[in-house]
Amino acid sequence: LRADLANYLNAESQVNLTAKNIWPANGSNEVMQQLLQLSGGPDKKLVTFDPTYSMYEDYCHNTFTQYLSVARNEDFTIDKEVIDNALALSPDIIVLTSPNNPTGTVIDGSDIDYLLASFSGVVLVDEAYAEFRTAGTPSALSKLDKNPRLVVVRTMSKAFSYAGARVGYAAANPELIDAM
Ligand SMILES: *Cc1c(COP(=O)(O)O)cnc(C)c1O
Repeated sequence: LRADLANYLNAESQVNLTAKNIWPANGSNEVMQQLLQLSGGPDKKLVTFDPTYSMYEDYCHNTFTQYLSVARNEDFTIDKEVIDNALALSPDIIVLTSPNNPTGTVIDGSDIDYLLASFSGVVLVDEAYAEFRTAGTPSALSKLDKNPRLVVVRTMSKAFSYAGARVGYAAANPELIDAM
């Protein structure tokens, strides 16, 4: 399964991943909770960008991680200023959802680069809706090579209408995957 998911991502997003880059579990919900079991906890802070997927707060609750959020711009975009507002809260984990649920907003690759360059914690990019992005929009998967603290999460639940199977997965650097 891990090799098949890697091959799927390689074809879908023009990357070069192997089974060692992939961690599948019971839906991306479980994958994200496992990531917080690894990098969250009572003395750790997670920051997201409102409005966004309501489950992040639940994963925090379940792992005793502090949940914080900052507002998106009025048009629901995230730019460097919004990212700076998140960084000002000194988080340990930042969650970017792209395309975002419920707004459909995509985060610009250059803004993800800005965050990766200015933050030493874990960056989770939730790409549950990646298959619906417009042609030419790159996936954050293309940034995994150079960013060992980046985790990209995908799922079979949305584009494949296969939520009942509970197949979600993280793509990241092999050391982080092993730790999970
Ligand atoms: C639906 C959804 C998920 C979770 O889906 P799973 O069925 O647990 O894989 C994760 N993130 C977002 C933004 C979603 O909309």
